Amino acid sequence: MTYQRSYTLFKMAFILGFGVIILNWFLEIWWLLLVGIGIIFLGIKQLPFFYRCPHCKQQLDVRQGKLPHCHHCGGELDW
Ligand SMILES: [Zn+2]
Repeated sequence: MTYQRSYTLFKMAFILGFGVIILNWFLEIWWLLLVGIGIIFLGIKQLPFFYRCPHCKQQLDVRQGKLPHCHHCGGELDW
């Protein structure tokens, strides 16, 4: 998996996870809350494995969004 895909997966998991949690409020299906939390958790958990610089393999900071350069080696990141 590429870092671009990992980033997209993280964003999708966040949106989908919150979507499911909101759905849980409307439908009052309690286990949907666990599913929503689980989706967000998995989205975060995959980051240390896949969201890494293609040049130096150091982990990138997802909180800074789509970085134009790696903050470890300065290598260019292609979005
Ligand atoms: Zn780097």
